Amino acid sequence: MAPISGRPALILHGGAGARRGVNYDAEIAHMRQVVETMRPRLLDGLSAAEAVVQAVTMLEDSGLYVAGRGASPNAAGAYELDASLMVGPDGRAGAVAALQGFRNPILAARAVMEKTPHVLLAGEGAALFAAEQGLDAIGDEAAWFTHAGQGDDNHPPGTLAHGTVGCCVLDVQGRLAAGTSTAGVFGKMAGRVGDSPLPGAGVWADDRVAASATGQGEYFIRVAACAQTAWRVADGASLTDAARAVIDRIGALGGDGGLIALDAQGTIADPYNSQGMKRAWLTVEGEVGVDVFGD
Ligand code: ASP
Repeated sequence: MAPISGRPALILHGGAGARRGVNYDAEIAHMRQVVETMRPRLLDGLSAAEAVVQAVTMLEDSGLYVAGRGASPNAAGAYELDASLMVGPDGRAGAVAALQGFRNPILAARAVMEKTPHVLLAGEGAALFAAEQGLDAIGDEAAWFTHAGQGDDNHPPGTLAHGTVGCCVLDVQGRLAAGTSTAGVFGKMAGRVGDSPLPGAGVWADDRVAASATGQGEYFIRVAACAQTAWRVADGASLTDAARAVIDRIGALGGDGGLIALDAQGTIADPYNSQGMKRAWLTVEGEVGVDVFGD
């Protein structure tokens, strides 16, 4: 494929559960490190899909966010994790939901995309598939999981306090991809699946737009948040206006959260209606930035 932009761009998030008064220095330093690590790889021609997988793997492994190692258990005491990957040019997608026992759900999502005729594997079937693929198992869960984001959790009981990670990439060939990974909302019911593993809701990539959502997933599912952002752009809206309109719609329904999005020109959008959203980016001009509260 001929280069389109020739210059890569990336935006990642560490969840929209950020609360004022909580110290996010570790997350800020880590998100910056992930972007700095990805920059030379992208300039060397790493594909958007592979860059998303590598960045999300680093976020999962850190134990700093409510995804991968940072997960908390559901109401039944089980660690059920969701993840997804979608690739723009051809709309390929892979995802896992309610996956138990594996360190990197994003690697299982990629394997579903690459090795099966399916898009989404859930529960026991997802775990059997991850084992067949030789993905790293967790072993001792008590020793592995860090229960990140508990300090964020000052939502009233029953209001779906949350955290997630995600990443959108434009590579030097102009290809877009997006991925999302989460342990879901705190205290979720056994078997609850949010927006994160659902293409259209918590992740999207086509030839114009890549997007990854974070927030109260039930609302993001109801508005097909990430796909709606892309469809608004296809209808002529700017990426910024499209993403904002989707978050405003979620707010009107009573939900909170945010999304990150990137278009094929390298435009970045990152609206949220929660107090903050942990995020970091690399622009097509080569600038790296990190922010949580927009101030
Ligand atoms: N959207 C995720 C979910 O509902 C949680 C989050 O993004 O914080 O599972």
